[in-house]
Amino acid sequence: MPPASGETFEKLRPADGSLLCRGARSGAEDVAAAVDAARSAQPEWAALTPVERGRLVREIALALQARRDEATQLVVEETGKSEELARGEVDAAVEMGFFVAGEGRRLYGRTTTSAMPNRTVMAVRRPVGVAALIVSFNTPLPNYAWKAFPAVFCGNAAILKPSEHTPASAAFFGRLANELLPAGVLNVLHGLGDEVGPPLVEHAGVDLVSFTGSAETGRWINERAGRRLAKVVLELGGKNALVVCDDADLDRTVEWSLASAFSNAGQRCAAASRLVVFDSVYDEFRERLVAGARTYDAGPVISEESLERMLRSLDGASVVVGGERLDRPGWWLAPTVLENVPADAELSCRELFGPVTILYRVRDLDAAIALVNESPYGLTSAIHTASLHRAMRFADAAQAGVVVVNGGTHGSEPHMGFGGVKQSGTGWREAGIEALDVYTEWKYVNLIADPALT
Ligand code: NAD
Repeated sequence: MPPASGETFEKLRPADGSLLCRGARSGAEDVAAAVDAARSAQPEWAALTPVERGRLVREIALALQARRDEATQLVVEETGKSEELARGEVDAAVEMGFFVAGEGRRLYGRTTTSAMPNRTVMAVRRPVGVAALIVSFNTPLPNYAWKAFPAVFCGNAAILKPSEHTPASAAFFGRLANELLPAGVLNVLHGLGDEVGPPLVEHAGVDLVSFTGSAETGRWINERAGRRLAKVVLELGGKNALVVCDDADLDRTVEWSLASAFSNAGQRCAAASRLVVFDSVYDEFRERLVAGARTYDAGPVISEESLERMLRSLDGASVVVGGERLDRPGWWLAPTVLENVPADAELSCRELFGPVTILYRVRDLDAAIALVNESPYGLTSAIHTASLHRAMRFADAAQAGVVVVNGGTHGSEPHMGFGGVKQSGTGWREAGIEALDVYTEWKYVNLIADPALT
């Protein structure tokens, strides 16, 4: 539908700044229409069996798979990322669909005991109702898939609010899904975050707000939706650390560090924006990292505004490599490595969400763990070491929702619960069967077989 205002916003291509498309600039009236559509569709949708809902989710995933090339090209244009990354993301979204669809034949509940004789107690999952799904731009199709598939599979009707930076992939995903789902089950609401977001978050007809984005927006959403006691699930940012011990395989560690810090132009919640390196290998690691950063093709960041924000934060910082805008159209920041940044400085604590990482020098594992944990965030973390003892100590002590030994700080999969501690989220996990906890409520059913015996 066209937006009630009749207004649109421009979506530009990050790789060269040219116009890709216009998005509908929705507002409160459009929110009300989407919520009405969702509320009317939800009861009938929830009445279908989980097997049938799972089948339909599988059909959507298959339709996406069949249009893999088209989806890939769309994401390349919309985000400026490489074809390889975009294709990987389409495949990841498809896999999420298959994983969720499989739950149609499970969606396990529980039974439990009772102190009363003849009483059977079952815990069963029920849909929450209408879910607002508000997502970031960074990996658009997986972001839609991680929320929309489990939300509708669980029997909710959903309103997907994509980022204003990715209207094309959201429209594509919405159309594809709506060729298979009953009308009103999955609605896509385009618009600018601060215009269409608030009326959606505050609408009394929205039972659940599931949000992936910055801590700043998440905090606002939590407050506003909290006032009306809606269920709120927040997946927020990170300032993820990768630790390099003196017994690490340096070649591999450098490769993982570059990929963790710079792939997708560092626009990953799980990006390694802090590299914590043992003193004895610091200089060698730094040299190899810098050589790799010079030739790394990170791709553009999502917008001019984002690029300028990053350049402003780098002002006055000690830049080892990068730190400047590339001389070409679009929004390209050279992969950037900083050092000599105090652990409590703003740059160390604030997520930049771009191709910028900071090197820190530490004397040993204790100092590394202390530094890793000296962060307002706690999403992911990694350690590179040959020592099982060090790996296990780190896995135990790192304050993060994900720990990786000898790998990157990113790389979650559909069956793995994902989320963080501290300001990286509010305790929920997405993907995996953990996502079922987000999109369902537990109901305890007590059955007394023979009333005469109570
Ligand atoms: P953002 O917070 O600016 O925007 C996220 C979404 O919220 C967008 O759809 C935006 O339009 C919408 N929005 C903005 N203001 C709103 C408001 N007042 N009410 C409702 N919605 C509003 O974040 P971004 O720049 O799109 O994404 C980057 C952030 O997302 C980073 O912090 C990153 O770490 C985080 N992220 C987290 C995860 C995770 O799983 N934890 C995954 C991807 C990205």
